Amino acid sequence: MTAQLIDGVALSRQLREGFAQRVAALKARGTTPGLAVVLVGDDAASQVYVRNKVKACGDVGMHSVLERYPATLTEAELLARVEALNQDPAIHGILVQLPLPPHMDAQRVIETISPAKDVDGFHVASAGALMVGQPGFWPCTPHGCLRMLDHIGMDLRGKHAVVIGRSNIVGKPMALMLLQRSATVTICHSATPNLKAHTLQADVVVAAVGKRNLLTADMVKPGAVVIDVGMNRDPEGKLCGDVDFEGVKEVASWITPVPGGVGPMTITMLLANTLESAEKA
Ligand code: NAD
Repeated sequence: MTAQLIDGVALSRQLREGFAQRVAALKARGTTPGLAVVLVGDDAASQVYVRNKVKACGDVGMHSVLERYPATLTEAELLARVEALNQDPAIHGILVQLPLPPHMDAQRVIETISPAKDVDGFHVASAGALMVGQPGFWPCTPHGCLRMLDHIGMDLRGKHAVVIGRSNIVGKPMALMLLQRSATVTICHSATPNLKAHTLQADVVVAAVGKRNLLTADMVKPGAVVIDVGMNRDPEGKLCGDVDFEGVKEVASWITPVPGGVGPMTITMLLANTLESAEKA
């Protein structure tokens, strides 16, 4: 079997067209949705990410500001900037790009963002809301994965989902979202012996580890849906995921590519959260 592709670029384009219409409607009522992106230091990957996020805002007609600070910025100075953005009525979403320089407590910085503007969904209030099923912003990457599963019409109820990875920004929230859809969820991580024994049981596998070729064809149940969150480089320097795409696509029924899968969907869900925040305000 050759799996069908879940195209994150095409789905993003479709969703963003809808967002552009909602942005136009908000603007007609006098509100332009605004996202503030705060970058501290000169991490090369972070610079690419923030540029893509700012560009995506512009493409759907949203306002965005990119605040860049040197790595010498103090934590107190950063907290003061976040407080100011919390009070700024033109800003509906605040994103502090991680990682922060080592002299800063990233969690303390995130906790300073108003939960009403926490469009990354990393605040404990947002995480808690997801945990208990209350309204709140969901982390963009796992939310993007869920939208991809919705897009292919997958009914998750009673299905066995295996999430590989237990980070606060991907693995754990992904597991909670799948659980909320009544899937039976297994979370595997670095201390899980015999990963394959779990993945072979899965109707859906979400790989969020950061290791190339972690998931190979012999680890996938025929017909399973495979979502690849990983972002790695192969020996030639090409972007690749955690899944051995060439092998797994012969076994899975649906698969996301890297690049062009979860990556664009992450930014799309950031736009969705910012728009939702503006609509609420
Ligand atoms: P992380 O390093 O915080 O977490 C990795 C997880 O993998 C850990 O929970 C660890 O327990 C688990 N793990 C490590 N080795 C394992 C193994 N051999 N078997 C099973 N589990 C193992 O990473 P993260 O922030 O969750 O990101 C994971 C990957 O997803 C990275 O490649 C990252 O770059 C990528 N990512 C992509 C996007 C996107 O938009 N496409 C967004 C966020 C993260």
